[in-house]
Amino acid sequence: MKIIKDIKEMQNLSKNLKKDKSIGFVATMGFLHEGHLSLAHQAKEQNDVVVMSIFVNPLQFAEGEDFNTYPRDRKRDEKLAEEAGVDILFFPSPEEMYPENFQTHINVEKLTQVLEGASRPLFFKGVTTVVCKLFNAVKPIRAYFGEKDAQQLIVIKKMVEDLNMDVEIVPMPIIREYDELAMSSRNKYLNPEERKSAVSLYKALKKAKQMIDDKIFDTKIIIQNMEKIISSYPFTHIDYISINHISNLKSLKYIEIGKTLISLAVFVGKTRLIDNIWI
Ligand code: AMP
Repeated sequence: MKIIKDIKEMQNLSKNLKKDKSIGFVATMGFLHEGHLSLAHQAKEQNDVVVMSIFVNPLQFAEGEDFNTYPRDRKRDEKLAEEAGVDILFFPSPEEMYPENFQTHINVEKLTQVLEGASRPLFFKGVTTVVCKLFNAVKPIRAYFGEKDAQQLIVIKKMVEDLNMDVEIVPMPIIREYDELAMSSRNKYLNPEERKSAVSLYKALKKAKQMIDDKIFDTKIIIQNMEKIISSYPFTHIDYISINHISNLKSLKYIEIGKTLISLAVFVGKTRLIDNIWI
């Protein structure tokens, strides 16, 4: 596995590779887990070359968020990436990505006003800007993103469509722990007691699914039941529970089968966790 830190070097290599090979790309912030690795495996299956980036992007963290404490373990990540079949690990520094006098940003306007964007107003501008820069460095034909970050996936697809970026966005299912907690690098922050309460997110989502199976489509009632479940676990504090249309993210009064995203963000202790299901 080749490790590259320099953007120009990555671009030159990709330019050459692209002449006769397909490049699949997985963007991550590192501290890799099975969720990230499932993206790499899929990329390996569908492309000649797999590039993974590891970059904790300062632009998508607000003051007071966990940029400095975000878990990092470079040696472990290198080993896991190599085992997953990654051919090139792109590891730029913040200075390489954002030199002094950097001043250009990408903003998907409407889709970023709700859900994660409402709670974290700077987040998506940081995400779309970095993903665009990474695409320009890596030049992939396909890029793999997890449904774990459902709104991020929708926003990136919109950016690609609006700006005519020549890359196929491939969505990938959520990988879960043995007890169905969605895998996340941030799960590391949870102490053993909080870890037990973290299962409440998916428990609430499953309750919603069950209610819909029972033909209850009123989203207000579904959300009330989800709130009850989360609140019955200690250390939990709900940021939002929301039911939205999958393509425009408008809030829904009634479930539309095949077109509904149920998502939530919950603080468990100080750790903010997200999860979702697509109905
Ligand atoms: P991150 O390192 O958290 O920025 O995530 C990098 C990529 O991995 C994003 O496309 C995420 O949606 C995806 N990802 C993170 N966790 C999971 C998971 N549990 N299952 C599937 N994909 C995931």
